[in-house]
Amino acid sequence: MKKWVYTFDEVSEAEALAGDWDSVRGLLGGKGANLADMTRLGVPVPPGFTVTTEACNAYTDAGLSVPEGMWDQVRGALDHVEEKTGKTFGDPDNPLLVSCRSGAKFSMPGMMDTVLDIGLNHEVAASLAEISGDPHFAYDSYRRLIQMYGSVVLGNPDEPYEEILEEFRTKTGVATDAELPTDALKDIVERFLKITPRFPSDPTEQLKLAVEAVFKSWSGKRAVDYRNASNIPHDLGTAVNVQTMVFGNLGEDCLTGVAMSRHGATGENHIEGDYLFNAQGEDVVAGIRATIHIGEMANDMPKAYEELLEISDQLENHYRDMQDMEFTVENGKLWLLQTRDGKRTAQAAVRIAVEMVDQGLISKEEAVMRVTPDQIDFFLHPQFTVESRKAAKAAGNLLAEGLNVSPGAAVGVVAFDADKAVEWAEAGKKVMLVRPETKPDDVHGMLAAEGIVTSRGGRTSHAALVARQFGKPAVVGIAELDIDLEGRTMSVEDRVIKEGEFVSIEGTSGEVFVGQLPTVVPDINDRWLSTLLGWADEFRRLKVLANADYPTDAIRAKDYGAEGIGLCRTEHMFFEAERLPSVQKMILADTTEDRQAALDVLLPMQREDFRGLFEAMSGMPVIIRMIDPPLHEFLPGQDELEHELHDLEEDTAVEHGAEIAEVERKLGRVDDLHEENPMLGFRGVRLGILMPEIPKMQARAIIEAACDAKENGFDPKPEIMIPLSIHVKELERVKGLVVDVAKEVTKERGIEVYYQVGTMVETPRAAMTAGPLAREAEFFSFGTNDLTQTTFAISRDDAEKSFLIQYVEQGILPVNPFQTLDRLGVGGLIKIAVEGGRTQRPGMEIGICGEHGGDPDSVALCHELGLDYVSCSPFRVPVARLAAAHAAIDQK
Ligand code: ADP
Ligand code: MG
Ligand code: MG
Repeated sequence: MKKWVYTFDEVSEAEALAGDWDSVRGLLGGKGANLADMTRLGVPVPPGFTVTTEACNAYTDAGLSVPEGMWDQVRGALDHVEEKTGKTFGDPDNPLLVSCRSGAKFSMPGMMDTVLDIGLNHEVAASLAEISGDPHFAYDSYRRLIQMYGSVVLGNPDEPYEEILEEFRTKTGVATDAELPTDALKDIVERFLKITPRFPSDPTEQLKLAVEAVFKSWSGKRAVDYRNASNIPHDLGTAVNVQTMVFGNLGEDCLTGVAMSRHGATGENHIEGDYLFNAQGEDVVAGIRATIHIGEMANDMPKAYEELLEISDQLENHYRDMQDMEFTVENGKLWLLQTRDGKRTAQAAVRIAVEMVDQGLISKEEAVMRVTPDQIDFFLHPQFTVESRKAAKAAGNLLAEGLNVSPGAAVGVVAFDADKAVEWAEAGKKVMLVRPETKPDDVHGMLAAEGIVTSRGGRTSHAALVARQFGKPAVVGIAELDIDLEGRTMSVEDRVIKEGEFVSIEGTSGEVFVGQLPTVVPDINDRWLSTLLGWADEFRRLKVLANADYPTDAIRAKDYGAEGIGLCRTEHMFFEAERLPSVQKMILADTTEDRQAALDVLLPMQREDFRGLFEAMSGMPVIIRMIDPPLHEFLPGQDELEHELHDLEEDTAVEHGAEIAEVERKLGRVDDLHEENPMLGFRGVRLGILMPEIPKMQARAIIEAACDAKENGFDPKPEIMIPLSIHVKELERVKGLVVDVAKEVTKERGIEVYYQVGTMVETPRAAMTAGPLAREAEFFSFGTNDLTQTTFAISRDDAEKSFLIQYVEQGILPVNPFQTLDRLGVGGLIKIAVEGGRTQRPGMEIGICGEHGGDPDSVALCHELGLDYVSCSPFRVPVARLAAAHAAIDQK
């Protein structure tokens, strides 16, 4: 006969059966596994048992029918609990009361709520009133049971119960339910029973129906939606824990509370929590009565407090992680009702991991693995201060909570459509775009907004994907948020926010506040963060470089731990106001001489940029990409020129002949350069083949800058990178130019400088012919944005606007390949290219540059593929450092 039920003291048997702790959690659920574990550790836990997740699955599979033998096993476990407690379930003379608690492998809101005080009926309540000498307690428990049973098991709405309670509070002139006199409680019980006709008075019946209700709740809509949104498998099932009641509501030497072994927001190493005297279950978190800070317990109940501190330490040592505990004190005796690894902010995660290493609780490696790269990302986004969040909550300004899909804090005035958001943003306002859900039409508004809020949608909704993509804080799927697009208001219950009013969102936690909260930008030099990242550096094999175009970016990148520059886009320097006219002249030139003249103006400017970079990155590689984009990007648009022409022709007051001719010439050139598919057109290395003066000028600027830097006492390491090659002949040609220039310059200057010439691999052809390319190229860098475009044959700009996000929403693609490297397609090509390149040129340096370099999953793939480095935006360098360490540790 299959074992469907385990008592809390049977855990070792369960462990043996299931093999390992993760399977125990799978079998008993997180709550049940830890209750059993605490029992074994000797922590005071009220006796009980767990009905397994397998029983739940069997129940679901059998079309809601309990598996054979399960009730007998429940009865057996109940006998065991009766023996341990000396009480009897359903026996009025000495009643055992139990709670029925759901508990899946992963903690999951949306599952069935707990029912407390099971086992009470008229007879038992009356007798319990006598035995305990506290009729108030007996009827308080009884009325709680009927209400919980009605709402949780029978699915009745809560309002009628609350109305009755309200009526009696008013009648008896008390503020809280805890103060209701016993007679009132008795009357309430009768009234509750009237509106709960299906409440079974037989305790066994109560228990059976409650257990089945937990099973059913696994397949309930709320739970299914939550699992879909959080990628939790649907076949795990939930366990049911049945546990002896302990009473925090048995008078003034009783209390119930929650505690964290460390501070969940800051990570400080001291216990944190709240409690309430004479209370039960959820009272503490329900916010009906003002709770007491846990520090007070030292005075109020010193013995129980001391014991709680000891247990808190014991559990931390056992689980080697910060614990989130539920406890109850009944007549001065402490009981633990739950423990689990505590939720924490990114800040707290980092600090706790580091301090646990200092305490000898975990290893450096574990500490590094305890913090996710995403958390590092959160860490570095602007945030609300702990105090301001607390104050806002205390003031009742927490409007709602939704899914935390894109990190960071944002403040703005509510705009209910994208156009309004853009209009207001252009007028200088900070805007929060609020929509029921977003669509591709809304993207302009999302970009203009500080943050995004939606009432519908999950973690892979359009809003969530776009927000993450563009680094906008976002909270989505706030079910209780009512948005009235006609009336231009939104509301949660009776709290109404009009368009134009301020809200603040914390995308890291999923909170939405009314009003403006102050933000702070966290410090990269935070003591704990730098320690943790330092440890990460010890484990990783991949180097982390940064994409930076200017010395200021380079300095920031170094601050964030970059070990060089993986991509300097020289053309960004061309777009600056003082340079653009010369760039345009260079492009529009009809003759080589004119082109050279324009380049001569640009040369010293580029040289200065490069010198700055080399000096900022002395001793580290600085990979400089030669001009890459299609030339039309630098030129005025056709419309603009036509306007100019029109104005000149209209103006008959003066003679404009020469100017008109010049504009016409430009127009002709713009027309020449026009391409149907510029992305696949005249760009990259192709520019240098047809206009060799450009790479020559750039090579000269680089080598001269290196000479200058060397003269200034620095150690420049330029690597010149040729973009978009598809054939080794292109490389032969352009590399030849570079080498000649370098020879010239070093001769002129009498200084030897180190440099390398390599290429980007951005097309399938380049990847497939990597061997031949490596004859010329001294290094490879994968431009994964273009490589993704050319591999998929889609243009990113167009695809993200039209179909790509829907592809991800509909599950056709698992992720946006421009965000996370496509393992099989693009990854496959990278693999081929790495092999081809290294066969030809053993040990050649190979890396990737582009946004993927800062994406943790892509970093892991780069590690697997044996690359030497990833290069990403300076802000993402810490994320990449940790991701690279995770990849290395995972591989071990
Ligand atoms: P949740 O998963 O929503 O926290 P729990 O099953 O932990 O639900 O229970 C809800 C509340 O009831 C918690 O405060 C818990 O401590 C309390 N509780 C559960 N079982 C018992 C019990 N046997 N005795 C006293 N309090 C209990
Ligand atoms: Mg709980
Ligand atoms: Mg490219």
